[in-house]
Amino acid sequence: MSSIKEYFSGVGKGLKSLVTGMAVTGRELVTPKVTEQYPENRDTLRIADRFRAELTLKYDAEGRHKCIACGICQMNCPNGTIKLTTKMVDLPDGKKKRKLDKYMYDLGSCTFCMLCVTTCPQDALEFSNDFEQAVFTRDKLVKQLNYRPEPKDDAPAPAPKPAMDPEQLARIKAEALAKAAKIKAEKEAAAKAAAAAQGAAAPEAPAAPAAPAAPAAKEGEAPAAPAAPESENK
Ligand code: SF4
Ligand code: SF4
Repeated sequence: MSSIKEYFSGVGKGLKSLVTGMAVTGRELVTPKVTEQYPENRDTLRIADRFRAELTLKYDAEGRHKCIACGICQMNCPNGTIKLTTKMVDLPDGKKKRKLDKYMYDLGSCTFCMLCVTTCPQDALEFSNDFEQAVFTRDKLVKQLNYRPEPKDDAPAPAPKPAMDPEQLARIKAEALAKAAKIKAEKEAAAKAAAAAQGAAAPEAPAAPAAPAAPAAKEGEAPAAPAAPESENK
């Protein structure tokens, strides 16, 4: 008797389990589908905003990023995913400034911990949710984040000079030429006057003293040789 009772009890439990399972199946039959038909649905596919796909620099409308190349993100990255290089640039006001040269990011080694984003003092970084990052080789995962052309420096540029009126420019040029010609003429006149004054004031040069005439040699004699100095033994 007890075995019959156990039998029907088991059948009842089985039916209950079946109904429970079929209820779940039936509920899912009428629930809206969540399976994404990727990549056919690329145009309508929406990834959650907070999905961390790739580190990027934030750019404003003029193409500027806010990175000051302080290196804090590089120091805080636990696995050396970020490598920065910097350069010194001359500003229009004559000062020098260290700027970001290259911001290299290796997506292949990133653990998406967001330490770089949260420690950046400039709020210059963010994660994009662009999830399509599949490539054939790992070296293609190394990306330069400051890839955009660099706009002009933020430092104050010297105010441009106002354009000069062409007539005023021509007048200034004519005045400068006239002044130069006048100075040249004055110099030439002064040089001539100085030369004339020098010519008038200079005395005639004295005649060079005549060389003493050598004594005439007698006919048939050789000219007398100059007297030899007297010997000390004499
Ligand atoms: S991204 Fe931020 S933390 Fe990293 S170097 Fe630039 S300013 Fe510094
Ligand atoms: S998310 Fe983490 S691992 Fe990736 S670059 Fe930033 S600090 Fe490095």
